[in-house]
Amino acid sequence: MADRDYYQVLGVEKDAEASAIKKAYRKIAMENHPDKNPDNPEAEARFKEAAEAYSVLSDPEKRARYDQFGKEGLGGAAGFQGFNEDVFGDFADVLGDLFGFGSVFGGGGGRRRRRGSAGRDLLFDLEIEFEEAAKGLETKIQVPRAETCNDCGGTGAEGEDGLQTCPECSGRGQVAFQQGFFTIARTCSRCRGAGRLLIKPCPGCEGQGRIQTEKTVSLRIPAGVDEGMRLRVSGEGEAGTGGGPPGDLYVVLHVSEHPIFTRNDRDILCEAKIGFAQAALGTRIEVPTLEGEESLDIPAGTQSGAVLRLQGRGVPGVQGGGKGDQLVHVKLVTPKKLSDEQRDLFEKLAELEGEEVAERGLFDRVKDIFH
Ligand SMILES: [Zn+2]
Ligand SMILES: [Zn+2]
Repeated sequence: MADRDYYQVLGVEKDAEASAIKKAYRKIAMENHPDKNPDNPEAEARFKEAAEAYSVLSDPEKRARYDQFGKEGLGGAAGFQGFNEDVFGDFADVLGDLFGFGSVFGGGGGRRRRRGSAGRDLLFDLEIEFEEAAKGLETKIQVPRAETCNDCGGTGAEGEDGLQTCPECSGRGQVAFQQGFFTIARTCSRCRGAGRLLIKPCPGCEGQGRIQTEKTVSLRIPAGVDEGMRLRVSGEGEAGTGGGPPGDLYVVLHVSEHPIFTRNDRDILCEAKIGFAQAALGTRIEVPTLEGEESLDIPAGTQSGAVLRLQGRGVPGVQGGGKGDQLVHVKLVTPKKLSDEQRDLFEKLAELEGEEVAERGLFDRVKDIFH
């Protein structure tokens, strides 16, 4: 089921309304959610597939591009942003009201029971060279972030008795109360769900449990990345508080402009200027590529604007797949100054072609006027 149509995945019509798409997605997500299907890779694959389809079809702009161009229209970035890993976080807002309930009453994954709070995700902008984006690179970056305080291990308290069990909820973090037939659980307001109260703050972090530092993070950037793509480095975001899990680090890539090349997805584009005689008679030119100079045959009769292709001289796809091509855009250059001999030849050519040209001398006068 690797590459099914998104509408098929969700089982909706092409013209389905947003509400129908959301409903279809919820149903599939509910049935296949990993919390309900532990150790069931099939359900997990189905869940991820639905999540990917929903992420596109729920976004009017992405949906329009998908309708028009298919998955290709979503660009390399769509898949690369890591549905496989992010899927549970990204769709928490849609699933939250379904599965959050479950976890309060003990039916779900129990995420809400975790002590402390998760660290924030961090964004880091990284500028890389055109060649680095094409070929990939390994590098290290210095990320300013909050880390768990070593003095208190993240509790924010000094010593054993720096923390006290919350008397309001007896350390459970929740208080229960009766409403009609139901027992409703609510987060304890005194300890905010932590179950413990801070009595003596740690002097190292002033009770925060975290300190501001800079951390060196190693990155392996795959070949073929492009402007604006995001790399997710799991667990390298800010430290959580009170023993909560760390956030993730997102590295946003910015690719420097190249003096010769530009990119279009997996293809590399460049321009080659040739003269009239070369275009008419054909020639062989040297073209710069990412792998060094390469010979390119310009066939006789090449028109201005023609695009010639150097196969496999482009950039590989980020998620595998072959390299694109280098497209050479041929531009004919009109000579600006003619020697007497050149002028004779051009006039002779015009005569053969039956073309009317400016008389000798007139050209110079025109030039005088406009310069
Ligand atoms: Zn501390
Ligand atoms: Zn409490």
